Amino acid sequence: RAKADGRGVARFFDPSMQDAADRRAAFEAAMRDGLSLGQFRLFCQPQFDCHGNLTGGEVLVRWQRGAELLGPDHFIGFAEESGLILPLGEHVLKESCRALARWDGDAMLGHLKLAVNVSVHQMRDPEFPERVARILDVTGAPPGRLYLELTESVFAEDMQEITRRMFELRARGICFALDDFGTGYSSLAYLQRFPLSALKIDRSFVRNLGIDPGSASIVEAIIALARKFELEIVAEGVELEAQRSFLTHGGCSSLQGFLLGRPVPMAEFEHAYSAAGVGHA
Ligand code: C2E
Ligand code: MG
Ligand code: MG
Ligand code: MG
Repeated sequence: RAKADGRGVARFFDPSMQDAADRRAAFEAAMRDGLSLGQFRLFCQPQFDCHGNLTGGEVLVRWQRGAELLGPDHFIGFAEESGLILPLGEHVLKESCRALARWDGDAMLGHLKLAVNVSVHQMRDPEFPERVARILDVTGAPPGRLYLELTESVFAEDMQEITRRMFELRARGICFALDDFGTGYSSLAYLQRFPLSALKIDRSFVRNLGIDPGSASIVEAIIALARKFELEIVAEGVELEAQRSFLTHGGCSSLQGFLLGRPVPMAEFEHAYSAAGVGHA
C-alpha cells in the first residue's frame, strides 16, 4: 500500500494509477483480440446530392464487443495513443475496398463513392501510400471511387511529408476530403497546397443553422470558399428539413445526416441500395 514516504515511491505505488494502467492494458488486449476476432465492423452512412440521388457513403467503424456495440468515440482515441490505429485503420481500409470491389458493375452501387476516415497517425506512416496501393491491388477496388477523409489535425504535421504522401495517393486516383472543416487548424493556404477534392462542413455549424446566425454565415463562407477552390462540399449532420433546405439552396453539393440516412451495417447498406441486393458476401 502506498505511503507518502518518497515522491517517486508514492507515485509508483499509487493504487489508482495501478488501476488505470491495468485498465489500459486490459483494454489494449481486448482491442487486439477484437481485431483478430473480426469484432470491428464497418457501418456505412449514405450521402446524397442536392437532388436527393445517392452518391456514396461514409464508412464508420464500430466495435461489436459481445452484445455491446461501441462507437468510435470509445476507442479511436485509445487506438491512436496505443498504435493500434495502424492495424485497425488497415482493417477498415481493406474491408472498404472489398466493398467497393463488390459493388463494381452493380447497376445501383457501381457508381458510388466510399469515404473512409484516415487518422493522422496513418498519414505519418511513410509506408501508408504503399499499403493503400497494395490493398487496392489485392481487392481490385476502383481507386477513383475511394475517398480518404483527413481532419485538419494533419496541418500540425510535417507538411512536406504529408503533402508528398497525398500526391502519391492522388496520382493513383484516390480522392481526399477534409473532414470537420472549420473546427481545427485550417490555414487557407493548405486548401491550395493539398490535392483535395472535397470539404466536409462540420456538424456543429449545420446543427446551429436556424439557431445561431453566425453558423449560417460560416456555412455560406465555407461554401463560397469551396467553390473558389473548385471543391465538392459535403454537409454532415443534417437532421432537419430546414437544414437540408438551407444547404441545398446555398449550393452544397452533398448531404449526409440522420434526416437522409443513419449509419447501418455494410450488408444492410448494400441490401438497401443495390439493384437486386448485390448477393452480399
Ligand atoms: P466523422 O468522420 O466526422 O463522422 C461523422 C459522425 O457524425 C459519425 O459519428 C456519424 O454517425 C455522425 N453523424 C452523421 N450524421 C449525423 C446526424 O445527422 N446527427 C448527428 N448527431 N450525428 C451524425 P461516429 O460514427 O460516432 O464517428 C465519430 C468519429 O469517429 C468520426 O467522425 C471519425 O472522426 C471517427 N471515425 C469513425 N470511423 C473511423 C475509422 O474507421 N477510422 C478513424 N480513424 N476514425 C473513424
Ligand atoms: Mg468522416
Ligand atoms: Mg466529420
Ligand atoms: Mg468528427
